[in-house]
Amino acid sequence: MAIGAHPDDVEIGCGGSLLASSALGHEIYIYVATRGEKSGNPVIREDETRKTAELIGAQKLRIADFRDTLLKRDGELIDSIESFVKEVEPHIVFTHTANDQHHDHQAVALSAVEACRFVPNLFCYESPSAKNFQPQAFVDISSVISKKLKLLDIFWSQRGKQYLRKNAIVGLAEYRAFQTRVEQIKYAEAFEVSKVCMSEALSLFSVPVFARELELSKSPISGERVEQ
Ligand SMILES: [Zn+2]
Repeated sequence: MAIGAHPDDVEIGCGGSLLASSALGHEIYIYVATRGEKSGNPVIREDETRKTAELIGAQKLRIADFRDTLLKRDGELIDSIESFVKEVEPHIVFTHTANDQHHDHQAVALSAVEACRFVPNLFCYESPSAKNFQPQAFVDISSVISKKLKLLDIFWSQRGKQYLRKNAIVGLAEYRAFQTRVEQIKYAEAFEVSKVCMSEALSLFSVPVFARELELSKSPISGERVEQ
């Protein structure tokens, strides 16, 4: 699952990772907090977001109704993200880094940490406005870098934006790949690690379905989960 403040945040930050995961058959869910109305026509921006979700092969896209540039880390935003998290039960979540100068991005980053407290793996992606970003995890996106560029082409309404220039996107992916010092990785997306849980086999932990069912059966109200 990926979480972003505005249309295009998720695609820039972790679009390659989503494309690569989707190609492997993983289910993809995307949450966007606003329609980005401060940077263009919200109807067009929503439409562009739907098209990118389709190209990624996302199972579900949730575009919430928060106002662009007015996001705050508060109960309303946390609840909105959390309701989607409960609905889709992700094993891995990608969201903004809190080391971001855009206050909307910061608000989403901080809210997501709380909304995803029961998710085993939480990674934070970089945006063009991120500062002091210190990646600890890298995803190889070499096989999907061209598709990531196609994905970003869909944001036609934002075509004048410097951060969407292809050489900037490719250059960053190449630089992040270089940082891994793993020769086979030609292009990468980088992440700060908020939380990682590994299985005994040292693979990223997935919550087994039976564990979730067990949790449900403990609930005094049928079908509702008890959480503190
Ligand atoms: Zn943004």
